[in-house]
This record gives sequence, structure tokens and C-alpha cells, in this order.
Amino acid sequence: MFSKILIANRGEIALRVLRACREMGIRTVAVHSTADADAMHVRLADEAVCIGPPAARDSYLNVAAILAAATITGAEAIHPGYGFLSENADFAETVEAHGLAFIGPTAEHIRTMGDKISAKTTMQALGVPLVPGSDGELKSLDEARKVAEEIGYPVLIKAAAGGGGRGMKVARTAADIEEAWSVARTESLAAFGNDAVYLEKYLDRPRHIELQILADAHGKVVHFGERDCSLQRRHQKLVEEAGSPALSAEARDEIGAIATDALTKLGYRNAGTLEFLYQDGQFCFIEMNTRLQVEHPVTELLCGVDLVREQIRVAAGEPLGYEQKDITFSGHAIECRINAEDPETFIPSPGTITVFHPPGGPGVRMDSAIYTGYRVPPFYDSMVAKLIVHAPTRDMAIDRMRRALDEIVVEGVKTVIPLHQRIMNDPGFRKGDYTIHWLEQFMSRG
Ligand code: ADP
Repeated sequence: MFSKILIANRGEIALRVLRACREMGIRTVAVHSTADADAMHVRLADEAVCIGPPAARDSYLNVAAILAAATITGAEAIHPGYGFLSENADFAETVEAHGLAFIGPTAEHIRTMGDKISAKTTMQALGVPLVPGSDGELKSLDEARKVAEEIGYPVLIKAAAGGGGRGMKVARTAADIEEAWSVARTESLAAFGNDAVYLEKYLDRPRHIELQILADAHGKVVHFGERDCSLQRRHQKLVEEAGSPALSAEARDEIGAIATDALTKLGYRNAGTLEFLYQDGQFCFIEMNTRLQVEHPVTELLCGVDLVREQIRVAAGEPLGYEQKDITFSGHAIECRINAEDPETFIPSPGTITVFHPPGGPGVRMDSAIYTGYRVPPFYDSMVAKLIVHAPTRDMAIDRMRRALDEIVVEGVKTVIPLHQRIMNDPGFRKGDYTIHWLEQFMSRG
């Protein structure tokens, strides 16, 4: 096992990784920008190294500075968290070239899955069902028109390098295709420096259901069931549940078997998530994330597993030591992402948190790096906390989340807590038969 790990991230996820390391008796190295000198992950780590100015490209994305920090402190492995360098294949490769372990998959698998076109081609060859669409990259507007006619409108033009819901445009009819084609490409070039796009059937009422996978370096792959992340605005997740209110145990087993079989054939290692759209009882793969997800805690509570600990163990070469049949699903878990944003416009609201009081009591978990007096910097993602609850049934989990949302106090910055309270009080949400469009429709109802 490693004796020292460098955590190449910030905020709640840096703290989450740090906590797993502590419990495993592993020393930690925090890295931070000048804007984060007072951050919790810096205070709690055994050692901390400043790696640059506030802008992420100069600090949390600064590979040379991070590697220098690892070398100086004698870290043996790097945990990338999510975001930043977590899905950067060149970074994973460089880390390993420096004789350190990258706590994640191989650079090759990160690269394959990082390009959504090669991810889909690879998964299709491994027997995973896809959303119908173009056979790889679209070379021209004419080709886009032709494929759209074949599969039928509406269609979605998506960036091969996409992420965070960017570079994605719907064409409802043939009249929209030219605009969708040019907007998706322009957005993709601006955001990712790459204008390769592909086309998918635009599903009108799917749920977003994803499967948590874990694989060791000895060929064993298991899954920890699904998360339902359909509650989104602008294609970004806001509330996640495990399990999905829409999925039977049989459907979970079936997609779980397809996914674990595919990743076994691929020779995948570490944690990963296969994302699907689920409509009319059909699973359609859309992408794979080769890292820990923001929403991993709902799975941890549902299955009684520490996924970060498992990631570290398998990166150190330890075998999983259990089988699929040993993984059990108990009760129901819900996560609300607490973003420092206006709850109606979602405009970020950085500033000083004048009062923070976390909720507590049975079945409540708060993953956050904020405290009273903490200044939410304007430079990074606006998610400042995750409130997660676990209860024996979904109804009880909703009641528990309502209770926890009443207890939590975050003052000084705007947050989306009032929106979460409305969602948890809504009879439609309680019924559980929502799709990816539910939240935007719910908000436009006022
Ligand atoms: P990103 O990597 O940018 O998050 P994804 O491919 O994971 O992009 O899609 C994000 C979200 O966009 C999905 O959860 C879903 O809400 C919506 N979406 C993506 N593909 C489709 C599709 N073919 N039909 C309908 N909605 C889609």
C-alpha cells in the first residue's frame, strides 16, 4: 500500500479523498492555488504545496507544478478527484512516466473514453447498446442531413470532445440542422479546441441512468448498481438518487451484466461510470466517465462501500477480494448538490459565507469543504457542498432530505437550497416518474 498520496484537486472532493487516506493510514499532500491557501483540504493535509495563482490553468491544471510537488514531498501516487486533470490521458501518462501511480484507469482507456465517438464505437463492439446515430464523426453538413433523415428528427449534434453539457445542439426539424451543426461545432472548438461532432437521435423523454463500475488490476470487474441523475438543468445534474425509482432489480442485473462483461473484455481498471439514457425499457449508452463522479456518495450509502478506498486499493494492485454476489443494495439514497448560485437564474454567487451550520442526525452525510468565514472564490466550480441522505425507503429518504434541508444554514452567499426544498416538497418528484426534462419544466411552472 502507498504511504503517501498527493491529491491533485480542491474543495469537497480533495477533502473526501483525504478522509479515505486518513482512515487507511496514508499520509496526504494537498496542492493549492494562492486563492485556496485557507481551504480545508490544505489545513487538514499532512503537507501542503502552493502550485500557482488562482486561475485553474496556472494551478490545478499545472502539470509541471503538481509533479514537482509530488517529487519534493515524496508522494507515491496521485489521486486526481473529478474535473481538472482527472480525465486527461497525457497527465496520467506523465504521472506514470515519473514512477508514480495514477489512481485511475490507464492513459489508453482515458483517451478512448474521452473521445465520445471512440467511446461509442468501442462500447458497441463490446456489446453495449447505443443511442441510434451517426457512424462516427460527421464530415459535412450534407452528411448530417442525410443521417438525420435516416434516423428521423429530432436529432442532437454533439461534440466528440464534449463535457459539462457543452457543444450539444438539438435540431427538431430539417430547418434547424444547419444552425445546430454550426453552433455545436463553434461551441466545441471554443470550449475544447476540437470541432469534431457526431449525431444522435434526440430522445424525447429519457431518464439519465448511470452504472458504477469498479475493476481491479487482476481482471475482476463488479458494479455497484445505478444512479438516477435525471434531474438536470442545462444538461447538468442537480439531484441524484440510488437506486433509480424507474428500475427493477432484474433490469439492474441485466445492464450490470452487460457493462461488467464489456469492461472485463476491455481490461479496464479502477472506478468508472457508464452513462445511459433509459427510455421505454431500453438502455442507450451515451458516454463513460473514467473517474470518480460527484454523485458517488449515493452509491456508497446504498451499498455500504467506500469507493475512494477501493480506488486506492486497486491502484496499489490489491485484488477486490469480493464477488458481484457479495454486493448488496440497501434502502435508498438521495444527493442534493448545493451550488453557490442564484436558485432561479443559476448565476454564481461567490463571496464570504457568514454562517454555516451543517445538518446532522440519522442517515445524513454532508460532503463539503466550507465553514463559517470561508470565502467562496470566483475562480472555480460553484458547487460548495453535497447533502446526502440514506433511509430504508425512497419516501423516507425524501422526508429525511426535507428535514436536513430545513436544518442546514448557509448565509452570505446565494445557494440553490430553496430550489431543493421545492423539489423535495413536490408530489411529482415523490411519484418518481420524471425524465431529464422534468426540472426545467418544474422551474418554468414557477
Ligand atoms: P456531457 O458529457 O456534456 O455531460 P452527455 O453525453 O453525458 O454530455 O449528456 C449530458 C446530458 O444531455 C444527458 O444526461 C441528457 O440529459 C442529455 N442528452 C445527451 N444525449 C442525448 C440524446 N441523444 N437525447 C436526449 N438527451 C440527451
